[in-house]
Amino acid sequence: MSKFIFVTGGVVSSLGKGIAAASIGKMLEARGLSTASIKCDPYLNVDPGTMSPFQHGEVYVTDDGAETDLDLGHYERFTNTKVGKDSNITTGKVYYSVITKERRGDYLGKTVQIIPHITNEIKDGIKKVAKDQDVDVTIVEIGGTVGDIESLPFLEAIRQMKWEMGANYCLNVHVTLLPYIRSAGEHKTKPTQHSVGRLREIGITPDILLCRTEKHMTKEQKEKIALFCSVDREAVFEAIDVKYIYEVPVAFKKQNLDNLILRKLNIKRPDGDLKRWEDFVIKRLKNPAKEVSISVVGKYITLPDAYKSIYEALVHGGIANNTRVIINKIDSEDIEKFGAKKYLKDTNGILIPGGFGTRGIEGKIKAVQFARENNIPFLGICLGMQIATIEFARNICGLKNANSTEFEKSTKYPVINLLEEQKKVKNMGATMRLGAYPCKLQKKTKSLQAYKKENISERHRHRYEFNNEYRKIFEKKGVVFSGLNIKKNLVEILELKNHPWFVACQFHPEFKSKPDRAHPLFQQFIAASLAAVADK
Ligand code: GLN
Repeated sequence: MSKFIFVTGGVVSSLGKGIAAASIGKMLEARGLSTASIKCDPYLNVDPGTMSPFQHGEVYVTDDGAETDLDLGHYERFTNTKVGKDSNITTGKVYYSVITKERRGDYLGKTVQIIPHITNEIKDGIKKVAKDQDVDVTIVEIGGTVGDIESLPFLEAIRQMKWEMGANYCLNVHVTLLPYIRSAGEHKTKPTQHSVGRLREIGITPDILLCRTEKHMTKEQKEKIALFCSVDREAVFEAIDVKYIYEVPVAFKKQNLDNLILRKLNIKRPDGDLKRWEDFVIKRLKNPAKEVSISVVGKYITLPDAYKSIYEALVHGGIANNTRVIINKIDSEDIEKFGAKKYLKDTNGILIPGGFGTRGIEGKIKAVQFARENNIPFLGICLGMQIATIEFARNICGLKNANSTEFEKSTKYPVINLLEEQKKVKNMGATMRLGAYPCKLQKKTKSLQAYKKENISERHRHRYEFNNEYRKIFEKKGVVFSGLNIKKNLVEILELKNHPWFVACQFHPEFKSKPDRAHPLFQQFIAASLAAVADK
């Protein structure tokens, strides 16, 4: 039977609970344990698929087509865990299920209540993942901050689980903030005391505290926190700010956090190390041999979380090439106003990520044109591929004002449009082409060169597609359709013949990249951008 680690957060949001949970997973894997990961989100949306990136950050897509919280991306990047539709439990999903059951009559005769019906639904959801994945340890992160009204049912559910299963089966890890007050020259422990106090009020006493801090903690501070928060002396850990998120598991391991977790959960395993991770990932991150500058042209660039997986995949591509990737985040509306040259003339590679809606589209088209005309390596992803299509249609195929029907319904040349099945769609939630689809790579293409195998599978999240009516003219003018979905007869990847490296895909490769296993397209994109540096 799986054991459970519940990760909660206190004092403020954005403490890096997701990274902490993923790092715990990484350490446990190093000890030979299998893990599963769950993120509980207290909002009422069924999933984050309908939220703006400004509200929520990136939507992380799983192989089985779920639109989920970006923390699940951290889990997949740090560990070998596979996440799926059951890995993200939202309040919306929980209520939807309970209300559906109530209407069906499953609770006939009963008053349906938050306790026990909502809490049971949460517990069942958590246990289902542990059972389906048949793992040693299931790590459950509770979103939000302790003290929020909306996360209370989740906290009550994990309190009950520990009561039912016992302390050897469930462990509470609380991530908290230890602010350093510069003028006083000291850490303040009061917010942590209050946050743990809130948890204890609802019946949860944390087993382990991870204190986010910018300066090292002293032994005395740890003892003081242990005493006031009623946790073991050895269970107070510092989670000091690090430059690269991938250092976090190493920093925890150095403090023997994994030993304490195993001991408290009564699990015996030989020691393990993170040597490969340290040698390959951390060393190359800290002391790379080369440097390359990549421009990401998008419309959510002010928010670091909006393109989380893209930025991480670029870093992975850098690690694979022993290269530091400097990412320039460029607002496509600025390019619209002031032209591409001003922002892109010194860049070694250009990437256009996914997106929705018309704002900033013309700026992105200009960025593609700049990459194409100046032989700058280009990677287009989802919307980025659609933009590359529009640019090529307008500027090379002579299809004046060609467009996607997403941006102009009655465009004369709809080079990107909706499939019949999408035209019938009425609801917005979970109705895009979502999740893993197969793709066959064509011979003698840069894509095949990157993947080194013909049959691949990649994750999708979009409604619009390349319009097959234009395939011939594109091919005649120098486009190679290097990746195809044979069954559905869809274009998955296009490349340019007369360009050093111009690859645009309809899917999202960034979701499958890991720090020690960079995605082939990102690896090759960085390699091509490096070659461009050498040429300069
Ligand atoms: N808006 C485009 C579509 O729905 C692209 C989506 C995306 O980039 N994820 O097809």
